[in-house]
Amino acid sequence: MWDPYAEFERHVLPNGLTVYVAEAPSKGFEIFRFIIHSGSEADPAERPGMAHFVEHLANKNAPLPTIELRDFFIDLGGRAYLGGTSWNGTSYGFTLPVDIRSCARGLELFGSMLLTARLEKGVEEERRVILEEWKEDYVVKEVTWDPISRRRQALYPGHPLHSFVCPLGTPESILAITHQELQTHYDRWYTPANMTIVALGGLAPSTLVSLVIESVFGTGKPGVRRPVPVPFDAPKPVDTGFVLRLNPHVPGFQNMRYVSAAATTIPTNPAAMEVAWELLSQELFDEIREKRQWTYDVSPVWEPLGSSVEFRVHCENANLSAEHDFDGCVTMCIERCATQTARFEKVRRRRIAAKQMIDPNHHQIVNECGESLAHYHSVRTLGDKIANLESLSMPEVQGVLERLAPERRFTVLMRP
Ligand SMILES: [Zn+2]
Repeated sequence: MWDPYAEFERHVLPNGLTVYVAEAPSKGFEIFRFIIHSGSEADPAERPGMAHFVEHLANKNAPLPTIELRDFFIDLGGRAYLGGTSWNGTSYGFTLPVDIRSCARGLELFGSMLLTARLEKGVEEERRVILEEWKEDYVVKEVTWDPISRRRQALYPGHPLHSFVCPLGTPESILAITHQELQTHYDRWYTPANMTIVALGGLAPSTLVSLVIESVFGTGKPGVRRPVPVPFDAPKPVDTGFVLRLNPHVPGFQNMRYVSAAATTIPTNPAAMEVAWELLSQELFDEIREKRQWTYDVSPVWEPLGSSVEFRVHCENANLSAEHDFDGCVTMCIERCATQTARFEKVRRRRIAAKQMIDPNHHQIVNECGESLAHYHSVRTLGDKIANLESLSMPEVQGVLERLAPERRFTVLMRP
């Protein structure tokens, strides 16, 4: 079986930097990904949006102006990824041809962006850009921002997630963040110890590691790795949701929207989460889409948020006639999943078989490694995932489903 994730070698440099490297001989490119192990989770409580603001400034304070920086990579046929922030981490990356000098130059540019920058240029300009991003994403605040904000408050009392809606932060905070706070955040978290590099391509691992050691990434800077989050044991939410009646003249809201979410944690056997997801996916499809024909679009989603996993059922567009029965029907589907031993077995076998058939390209492999490192601080190989599925039992899946009981969910129904 081809297991590209098992091909990575892990090195920890003397300065604390972790490097995951794999060789794809005969490939003419080298893909780099840089993970800073602190995303929005590291935002100071009174300054949501800090990690994202720092991400915006990193490339503004690179040794080259942003356009020239991008052009260096594009002119050689590669590309630069100048940053993305999530709750779990912040990542950057680039792709270049397999050529020692080009790769060394790429590492020099990203090294000074990610380790030695003075965040002086572009602060006010980026503040305006981020406020614009916020306005664009949350045009109708009562529909887009408030439901998530209330959900997080209900599901995560006493936990940093209780005030998290998105990495952008709040307009008040975006306006309040100072130059000095940005630099302090950067100096604290943009350190080799809090960083992992993933590299995949034509360079031999030993060449790649030497290149990293000889670059800025090999130098010392005091810092510590942000610890792996301790699983959050969510209590029952104090509030279980609300119905929002929208102005019927707002375009796009002629039907009903439904989101029901519960706070869970990554189970001891992570395969329990994906099998619960698939069982529920099928059940919702059969019951709500096929049998009742309320909507063509209903699905479960699970989002890793550090110490928690938010498990949700989304429906963007359902028939209004289903308003009073929809949530009860979702509950019935969840309960029914917990009894489907035969289907569980089928899903488990199918997922094991599918793992032996996957065919990701090299960019997808690096992206997946990067996400896995940001979420779990490790790379999960296909072999690990298959072993988890092999040993998975129905009670473990039932354990996930129990966390989705109606009294543990926060449900928002929007209708005209
Ligand atoms: Zn942004």
